[in-house]
Amino acid sequence: METRLVAVDPEHPDEQAIAAAAEIIRRGGLVAFPTETVYGLGANALDPAAVRGIFRAKGRPSDNPLIVHLADPADLPVVAVPLPLVEPLARRFWPGPLTLVLPRTAAVPDETTAGLDTVAVRVPDHPVALALIRASGCPIAAPSANRSGRPSPTTAAHVLADLAGRIAGVLDGGPAGIGVESTVIRVDETGRCIHLLRPGGVTADQLHRAAPHMDIHDASESAAEAAVARSPGMKYTHYAPRGALTVVRCGDPAANPAEARQRILRAIRRELEALRERGTKTGVLLFGGGEPAGGPVQADLVLDLGPADRPEEAARRLYAALRRFDDAGTEVIFAEAMPETGIGRAVMNRLYKAAGGRVRDV
Ligand code: AMP
Ligand code: MG
Repeated sequence: METRLVAVDPEHPDEQAIAAAAEIIRRGGLVAFPTETVYGLGANALDPAAVRGIFRAKGRPSDNPLIVHLADPADLPVVAVPLPLVEPLARRFWPGPLTLVLPRTAAVPDETTAGLDTVAVRVPDHPVALALIRASGCPIAAPSANRSGRPSPTTAAHVLADLAGRIAGVLDGGPAGIGVESTVIRVDETGRCIHLLRPGGVTADQLHRAAPHMDIHDASESAAEAAVARSPGMKYTHYAPRGALTVVRCGDPAANPAEARQRILRAIRRELEALRERGTKTGVLLFGGGEPAGGPVQADLVLDLGPADRPEEAARRLYAALRRFDDAGTEVIFAEAMPETGIGRAVMNRLYKAAGGRVRDV
């Protein structure tokens, strides 16, 4: 299959390009498109055969459910039972990077929800995504448009690197804005608690401000779990570059930030020295925004995603950085931990998953 790449203006997408992509979706095909989070791989969410195509193209395990994308919150009843408790959240954050898990309707096939009786839904905040869903006339199931396990794509070039020849087309609307996926939540039956299933573009703080009367329970994998749960390579990793990535963090809560960073850098420098002697291709991922104390870090590829107090910038650049390590043939990568404030929580969640259990406390 030849994959057609079509450039569109991200603000005012060309109607013909959208109509052609929508025709592919209506016929059960696959089209990748930009959203405000990352690029998605879309198919008609109500067509089981089309949805199976997503799993095939990505090599995604069939027990991992998809997020259903709508163009209009008013269409929610087509795919989900709109509990009154979640309506204020939908009103506040849609269109935007918040995914709600709700009881599904009979219209949604098992393929989309991986057999669950709930469905994950959101309204993306991107003119191209919204135009495509509208023109298709159906809800669009869209996971990130990468091969399963790889870093999510934030540009059309990333999509092609993973999926060229496996999907019908890609709408290229330039780089995705936020850079990490949506926040996934479930509101419990009492209406008093929000379960945070995956941190993402909407921060815990924003949720708290929107629903001050509700408790927010972080049910996503904690840093501590990530450190102990999985031995590398055993269970499947996510968002992972090809090189072995280790998160290096300072576990001492008493250390001040500057001292903590020095300890982390010292540990990384020591590791790099040993690897250099063996001729290993090394990479380092930093959140510093300037030259670290003690001079430049000596690795084959050092990428700095900006200062630790600007997590939005780190989020925007994270996945492209992981792919750059691959392009450079990096075999071993050390990533400095950043504070988990704001969207930094999502950045660290992805890094821990990319590390697949490799975490070093210093
Ligand atoms: P992706 O499409 O790759 O960004 O991943 C979708 C995310 O939404 C995964 O973390 C899924 O586990 C989660 N998800 C999708 N549907 C459900 C559901 N019905 N219940 C809980 N989580 C879900
Ligand atoms: Mg994904």
